[in-house]
Amino acid sequence: MKNIIIFGAPGSGKGTYSEAIMEKYGMGHISTGDVLRAEIKQGTQLGKIAQGYIDQGQLIPDELMVNILAKVYDEMPAGKGVIFDGFPRTIPQAEALKKMLAERGHEMGMMIELVVTEDILLMRLLRRAIEQGRADDNEETIRKRFNVYHTQTAPLAEWFEKEGIRHIVSWEEHPSKEEMIARVFQVIEEENA
Ligand code: ATP
Ligand code: MG
Repeated sequence: MKNIIIFGAPGSGKGTYSEAIMEKYGMGHISTGDVLRAEIKQGTQLGKIAQGYIDQGQLIPDELMVNILAKVYDEMPAGKGVIFDGFPRTIPQAEALKKMLAERGHEMGMMIELVVTEDILLMRLLRRAIEQGRADDNEETIRKRFNVYHTQTAPLAEWFEKEGIRHIVSWEEHPSKEEMIARVFQVIEEENA
């Protein structure tokens, strides 16, 4: 399987679709958000640094993030393809990912962009705040994260377009989770056919 980069705004469902893809195709999964939250929980030095940024809805600095990513990538089982969930989030991160993979003789594979309207995103994140109690899922921090997404991350979609690997899965209405998963699988299968 080709590597897959899952791209989208906070609350767009990157984690949900990554899990579904991982189960169906047996790929590896790297969620940078989950990696950082685990470090915070364990109270590591990295966790302490990360917490300050996450609580403010800001991104962790690129250089730090790129080093973490390379380390986690090298621990993945070889040959099955990896789902990148929440990385890259800036153009320097994307450039670094491309280079890091090339050095290992690997490719980025495909990017899947999840497009969801902002009112649905907000509704989902506020619900997740109740269900999972994530500290950064409060309305003030969510607004900051949207802002960071629009200014720093969204421009990256064009970068992937130029790389020729951008695939958009978009829903303006409210299709079921199952329907949305089926559409994501379809895009993956067309690409790997
Ligand atoms: P989703 O709801 O789709 O899972 P999200 O944006 O709400 O996405 P995470 O991807 O878990 O949540 O990220 C949470 C926080 O972790 C970000 O707001 C940011 O502070 C930090 N973070 C995660 N990935 C990166 C990255 N690639 N670069 C910089 N900071 C990151
Ligand atoms: Mg996530």
